[in-house]
Order: sequence, then structure tokens, then C-alpha cells
Amino acid sequence: MNEQEITATQDWKVRYLDLAQQQSMEKSEAAETEKLLCRIIIRLTLATNGLDPALDPHLSSLRNAVRKGVQPNLKDQLGAISEALIRANDEPAPVASGDTDLLSRLISRSGVTGRNLGKLRKLAEQLVADGDGASDEQVDRFLHLLTGAENRNGSPGFLRRFFHTSAAASDASPDEAVTPNQQLLKLLETLDWPAQLSLDIRRMELELAAQKDSAAWIEVLSSLLSLLSRSVGEVTTEIQDTRGFLKELTQRLEEIDKHVSSSKELRQKSMVEGQSLGQKMRQQVSGIRDNMNDATSLQQLCLEIGQHLEAIESHVGTFVINEAERHKAAAELEEQLRKRLEEVQSESRELRAKMIEAHRQAATDTVTGLPNRLAYDERLEQEFARWKRFGEPLTLLVWDIDDFKRINDRFGHHAGDKALRIIGQSLLLGLRETDFVARFGGEEFVMLLTGTNSDDAMKVAEAVRLEVKESGIHSVGNRVEVTISCGMSQFAQGDTPMDVFARADRALYEAKRAGKDCIVVH
Ligand code: GH3
Ligand code: MG
Ligand code: MG
Repeated sequence: MNEQEITATQDWKVRYLDLAQQQSMEKSEAAETEKLLCRIIIRLTLATNGLDPALDPHLSSLRNAVRKGVQPNLKDQLGAISEALIRANDEPAPVASGDTDLLSRLISRSGVTGRNLGKLRKLAEQLVADGDGASDEQVDRFLHLLTGAENRNGSPGFLRRFFHTSAAASDASPDEAVTPNQQLLKLLETLDWPAQLSLDIRRMELELAAQKDSAAWIEVLSSLLSLLSRSVGEVTTEIQDTRGFLKELTQRLEEIDKHVSSSKELRQKSMVEGQSLGQKMRQQVSGIRDNMNDATSLQQLCLEIGQHLEAIESHVGTFVINEAERHKAAAELEEQLRKRLEEVQSESRELRAKMIEAHRQAATDTVTGLPNRLAYDERLEQEFARWKRFGEPLTLLVWDIDDFKRINDRFGHHAGDKALRIIGQSLLLGLRETDFVARFGGEEFVMLLTGTNSDDAMKVAEAVRLEVKESGIHSVGNRVEVTISCGMSQFAQGDTPMDVFARADRALYEAKRAGKDCIVVH
């Protein structure tokens, strides 16, 4: 391994240690949020319990499930509630007596007494009689009386108690009725969400704030749960991958370290033995010198010098043999070390390639093959940094297929997926290499058009809208028209990505309200 490669390996190690640390922090933040979320679900289900007998069993099983923390089947539970709500909405309006039953149960649980109780009952009767024709004012008055109620002991009524005891709603003025939507909105606003979730959270807040649907909080909670479990899941797998990589790398480095220390040991032995040989030689030479000084006869001198030379020969001989063995061992070690290093290098390369591939897969949407949310978040960060640095125009587009639920209902989920793929391809047509499109989730897509202001982006978007409308989808030989709506916004001085997304999302909402199949710029 050359120096450059060693540095590269060290860089990897540092990067992954950092990542692992950052992710473990994010994981604990997510766990905290999850706990809070579970608490709020329990409260919301308690608050809404008893409002509709069809919902009650679902609410109670959801509450029980949530007490154990966020479990995978939670989404199903929320799904069941949504379905029960949809069924309730789809069913023909129940006969008046059914309504009265429900309303009188609601009134009796509210804790309203005295004169207000009479007013409430009267209002309820009127509401039932007027049915769909009831005015917003009537409904507001009814809700106000119901939630602003004080019971006989002067303590707040049931609904009021729930909505006003939570920390998140404690600053609500006492005259304000707080609905589950508002309650959840407050919770979302008060919590400190990890940065990568903030865009999603902002959208959820917008949805709740729109007050289109009083049961919107159920859908939002469901999305929140899947968002949290997805992000915790992603973090967990990345941590596991990283840990595996580091473990292997550390093992290899330890082995190399062992080899290096054994060869160091050999060198030290060789040095110590060399020193001792030198000492022995010096002794023999000084013996020779003494013999020469003290010699009385040449014969005796020859004999004694001969003995010294023999001793020297034997010492050197032993040293040479030992040294040769050490050399052999050192050469073997060196060879092993070289092999090990080669292995580490190739493993590092493989691991790196694997991680790059894993990242690519994690950034690709399996249904459409387009980049997914993860890829979008990364790209947005890059484009935002580039926009801030170079100031070239940048426009963000949010697309949402119109009435996609109907396509699923009419042709099935499988055909729905196929439609998503086809529309995904239509979105790609006409884009430049530097532009970007991703599936944001569900039937929504996002686009980043670089070097493009909103006027030019409008032209691109119009072409995309027409392409989708004209190509449609095909079912049993028949062409079925599919349309798509778009909200867009150009980055402007002082904007954060979140600001731009919120504007584009609002524009999309307006496009939907304006009758769909159109594009709105904000
Ligand atoms: P709108 O025009 O207001 O956008 O109405 P919509 O029906 O498109 O919107 P809504 O948000 O009510 O419903 C979106 C539907 O998209 C609901 C869901 O079943 C469907 N959907 C989301 N993801 C997928 C998917 O991966 N495959 C399929 N087949 N359907 C999906
Ligand atoms: Mg949608
Ligand atoms: Mg849609």
C-alpha cells in the first residue's frame, strides 16, 4: 500500500466514524420524537373516542398498539381508521335518528350543563334538520359551545380538558376551540425535527393548516409514522454497513500490525546478537593481544592464537547461521505482509464499490426507476449551494398527478404503478442533462431546472403537462386520459430550500383548486 492509499483508507475510516456518530445522534433524536408522537396519538385517539361507533374499535386498537412505541403495523391501523372514515363519508347520510344519537352522545360527554345545554340541544336538532345545508356559522357556534363548556363543578368539559391540557396547546386562548388538526399542527411546530425531515414536516403543517378536511390529522399522522420509521430504518442500515466495513478494516489493520511487530522483533534480535558477537570478538582479539605480550615461545603463541581464532570462527559461524534463519523468516513475513496489504487494498476497493452501489440503489425509486427522495435531498443541497455561489436562476417544480386515487380505484394498483412509470418517463422528456427530476413520494414528483427562470420553466412545464395529457395510459386497448398539476417557484434572494418548496407547494394547491391540469407560479 503506498502512502496515498494509506491516507485514502484513513480518510474512509474517519469519514465513516463521523457518519456513524452523526447517525447515532440522529437516531436518538428520532427515538425522542417517536415517543412524543406516540403520546400525541394516544391523546388524539382518546379525544375522538366515542364520536363515531364505527371508529371506536380502530381507535382503541391504535391506542394499544402505540403504547408499545412505533410498530410496523401502526400504519395498517391508521389505514383502517382512514378506511372507516372514508366508508363513513361514502355511506348515504344516516337517518336523522342516527345523527341525533351521535350528537346527543357527544353533548352528554361534553360536560355542558344549564342554559348552554339547552342551546346545544337546540342547535344539534337544527344541524340535523338542515343536514348539508347547515351553515359554517351554525357548525362553529355548535363547536364553540361544545368545546368551551364548563361543567357543574366549574371544571372544563371533556373536549376542552383534552385540548387545553397539552403543553403544545397551553398558549391557546381560552376562547379558541382546538381541533385535532390544530393540535397536531402545534405539535409539529413545537418539536425540533432533524434537518432532513424538515421539508416533509413543513408540508404536513401546510396540509393541517389548510383545514380542508377535519380528519386530515389521521393521514398526516400516518405519513409522519412512515417517514419516521423509514428514516430510522435508513439510518440503521447505514450504521450497520459502516460498522461492518470498519470492523473488517480494523481486523486487517491489526493483522498487519502484528506482522510489522514480528519483523521488528526479528530486527531487534539480529541487532542484539550482532552486538554480542562484536563483544565476543573484542574479547578474543584482546586475548590475542595479551597472548602476544605475554608469549614466551612462538609455539605457545601459535597454539593460543589458534584457540582464539577457533573461538572467533565458531561465534561468527553461529551468528551467520542464525542471521540466515532470521533473514528467511523476515522474507517470509515480508511476503505475507505484502499479500495482506494487497488484500486490504482490494477489499477496500470492493467495499467502496459496494457502498457506492448501495447508495445508488438507496437513491433510486423502485417503481419508476427515477431518483427518489434521498437523491432529491442530496441534489437540492448541491444545487442550492451552486445557486448561492454563482447566482444562476434556479426553479423548483412540484408535480402531482390529478385524481390518481380514481385511476387506482378504476384500474387497480398494478395499473396505477404502470401509470406512475409512464408519467415518470414523460417528465424526463425535454429536460436537459443538468436538470433533475425525482419521485417525491406517492403520485408526486419534484423537478429542479438549473439556469432557468420561472418564465422559461413555465414553457418546459407546459410541454410536460401536454405530454402527460396526450400520452395518457392504456387499458384494454382504450386510452385513458391522465392529467397532472404543477406548482413552481424560482429561488430568490434570501430563500432557503424550504421557503421555495413551501411556495411551490402552495402554488400546487392553488393549481388543484383552479381545476387541476394546470401550472401555477408563486
Ligand atoms: P388530487 O387531484 O387532489 O391530487 O387527487 P388524488 O386522488 O391524486 O390525490 P390523493 O392524495 O387523494 O390520492 C393519491 C393517491 O395516490 C392515493 C394512493 O392510493 C395513490 N398512490 C400513492 N402512491 C402510489 C403508488 O406507489 N402506486 C399506486 N398505484 N398508487 C399510489
Ligand atoms: Mg398527492
Ligand atoms: Mg394527486
